[in-house]
Order: sequence, then structure tokens, then C-alpha cells
Amino acid sequence: MKVRTDFICELNQKKLWLRREDLIKEKVKGNKFRKLKYNLIEAKKNNSRSILTFGGAFSNHLYATALSGKINHIKTYGVVRGNEWKEKINESQTLINCIKYGMTLIFVSREIFKKKNVKDFWKIIKLNPSKFYVIPEGGTNELALKGCLEMLSENDYVYDVICCPVGTGGTIAGLIKSSITKQKVIGFSALNNNSLKSEIDKYTDKKKWILNDQYTFGGYAKSNLELIYFINNFKKKFNIQLDPIYTGKMLFGIFDLINKNKWSWGKNILIFHTGGKQGIEGFNKRQIKKGLSCII
Ligand SMILES: *Cc1c(COP(=O)(O)O)cnc(C)c1O
Repeated sequence: MKVRTDFICELNQKKLWLRREDLIKEKVKGNKFRKLKYNLIEAKKNNSRSILTFGGAFSNHLYATALSGKINHIKTYGVVRGNEWKEKINESQTLINCIKYGMTLIFVSREIFKKKNVKDFWKIIKLNPSKFYVIPEGGTNELALKGCLEMLSENDYVYDVICCPVGTGGTIAGLIKSSITKQKVIGFSALNNNSLKSEIDKYTDKKKWILNDQYTFGGYAKSNLELIYFINNFKKKFNIQLDPIYTGKMLFGIFDLINKNKWSWGKNILIFHTGGKQGIEGFNKRQIKKGLSCII
């Protein structure tokens, strides 16, 4: 599948290229398409099964699963973190869209949500897991990696550095696996999670990768004025929209490191725009409520 690559700019003798997974010619955009691709094929093999997955009220993964279910005529269930969302669905455009695409939402408390990988969980939520094709939170599993492997090809061997944002680590693990020896993969963490590096190590033996956690902006979905300003400026300059949760933080980090002469890797940099634009509307609504600036 051919995805467009845009040259962005040259900065301190480094050339920056953006791979536009956000514009992939599929209904589901970005890395979530890659991660769901083989999971959907697997789920379809067993017609009787619905898909069940997990996520927060603004999760790109929940949204992508709901939309994929609608397109592929597979029933979807989403376990949502936080009971309180049951009463305020209309405050989350993501949840509104999930329902519109036919997903049945199951709201659970944060405590119960944390237990989603233990056996008791299913008893608590009164569902039988064998009735579903279960996809973990964020969509990361072996089949997701298989899809993400396809994000890099032989044509990309001209790049010596590959960059992507990191949430649960499935995307970077796929990229690491399909990278070649002369390439270094740099992941920019979008959240604070001390075990992320070991999670990624579980999927690959390769060592030519780095996880940068200096640009999390305080944690998942956290932001500040500087980040919003950067995203809006990027849009004005290059006419490319970044999302505030993942791609904005990564590009902020890349520009910051290069500008401060702290970039010690290669000169031809391929940066993955992994999508996430569905979340901007909801993000802006929350910003307005707090009296903060929006993404243009
Ligand atoms: C989910 C997501 C990521 C993170 O992908 P992981 O495989 O969970 O690390 C990155 N960018 C965007 C836009 C996403 O929606």
C-alpha cells in the first residue's frame, strides 16, 4: 500500500520527511488501520464472534475499532475506562462516533478497568470472553505488529533514522522489526510509563532503537501552550495538521533536539504521521471549557 511522503524541511543539515499514514487511502486512517488489519481478517475467519476491545473516552483505537466494525459488518463492543462517562457521553465526540458506528459501550470504573487482564474481570462485567474476538487496549498484539511491519519497505532504506510516536509500543515494535541494520528507530513517548521499554523488548530482539521520554508534556493527553503553539505554527508553515496527543509531541521533540544540536543520529529522517486527527475536535472542546487555546 503506497502512502505519500512529504519533504518538510532541512534543519541544521538534517532532512525531514513525513510519511503520511494520516492520509492512507482507507476509511480508517493512521497506524490504527495497520494495527487492526490482520486482527479483522482473523476475527472474520470466525463469523460468530464480535470484537471486544478497551479504551479511554478519547481513544483513537476505540474509534478505529468501531469504524472498522461498521465497514466490515462485525459487531463491536468497547469497554470504556471510567464509569462517569456513562452520564456524559455527549462530552466525548469519540464516544458519540463509536455509538454512531454501532459499537456497544460498556462503562467500568477505573479500578475495574485496571483488572482487565485478570480472569475475574469477565465475571465482574458479566461477559464470556470466549464469545468475543478480544483485542487489547491500544490494539497491540502480534497481529498488530504484522500490520505495522508493512509501514516500512525496501524503498525506505535511503533513510537512516525512523521516528514514530509511542503509546502502547506496537507501532514502534513493528517498525523496529522491519528496519535494517543501518537504520535507527527513535520512538517518542506520548505518556509516562516506566515499563514501556520492556514491553517493546518483548516483541523484538533488535537493539537499534531508542525510546525518548523527554516530550510527554506531563503525560497522556496532557499539553501546554508551547505545544499548542508549535502544532498551530506547524500547520501554518507546512499546511499539515498534527494531533496533540501523539504526532504533535513527537515533532516538537524532533525539532527541539535538532535545534539544540542534541540530535546525534542520522541526517535523512523519516517521520511517521500516525494520524489521530479524530481526537482534535474533542480536544478543542475540552480546551474551550478550560479557557485554553485551541488547535486551528
Ligand atoms: C495509537 C496511536 C499511537 C501509538 O501507537 P502504539 O502502537 O500504541 O504505540 C501513535 N499515534 C497515533 C496517532 C495513535 O492514534
